[in-house]
Amino acid sequence: MEDSYKHRGMRRSLVKILKTKGITDSGVLQAISKIPRHFFFDNALLGHAYQDKAFPIGEGQTISQPYTVAFQSEKLEIRPQDKILEIGTGSGYQACVLVEMGATVYTIEYNKVLYERTRKFLPKMGYKPKFFCGDGSKGLPRYAPYDKIIVTAGAPSVPSSLIKQLAVGGILIIPVGDNEKQKMLKITKVEDKKLKKEEFDYFSFVPLLGDEGWGK
Ligand code: SAM
Repeated sequence: MEDSYKHRGMRRSLVKILKTKGITDSGVLQAISKIPRHFFFDNALLGHAYQDKAFPIGEGQTISQPYTVAFQSEKLEIRPQDKILEIGTGSGYQACVLVEMGATVYTIEYNKVLYERTRKFLPKMGYKPKFFCGDGSKGLPRYAPYDKIIVTAGAPSVPSSLIKQLAVGGILIIPVGDNEKQKMLKITKVEDKKLKKEEFDYFSFVPLLGDEGWGK
């Protein structure tokens, strides 16, 4: 697949839309203007790659809406060298944004088919996060603590394992709610036992499965 002048133009238009919706982080906007989102789409949906919408990626899952990716990434206040855990690899697009911003990314996916597909596909594009398959609702304790944790599926509550695996000064961004809509929460571990919680708008994600999510 090629990345043409036309595609780059469509990405510039998408970035403009994200700015009008309130995204200001230049690192996030630059990453989105660089990553060819159409590479993540099946032929049948190719024409939709630069719309600000979520789309199916198979296995009943979705590639998140660009605004959602930008919003969560911005709230993480990413600095180069941050060690970030992403829960819900999916297509791998969000992981590419984080890698593009200079972070070291650990990404975990529950669905084996998506895990295998994305683990093979992303390095071909030059993006090399560390891939894991398993129940990310319990985090990835082996490599904790993390400077930042991003959950890209809707949780019923904040998993205590994720709080435990967050470094002091670290940020967790997670949508919490029911099956229809979830409120975006930003939790900062100010001190070892002290959390600061901020609430944002409602979003709509596929459910976070697993022991500290909605179950199997
Ligand atoms: N970040 C993805 C992207 O850029 O394409 C979007 C992810 S999609 C909205 C949510 C993903 O979370 C799905 O691929 C789903 O299989 C995965 N998921 C759900 N529960 C999970 C869990 N407990 N652990 C890891 N991944 C999970």
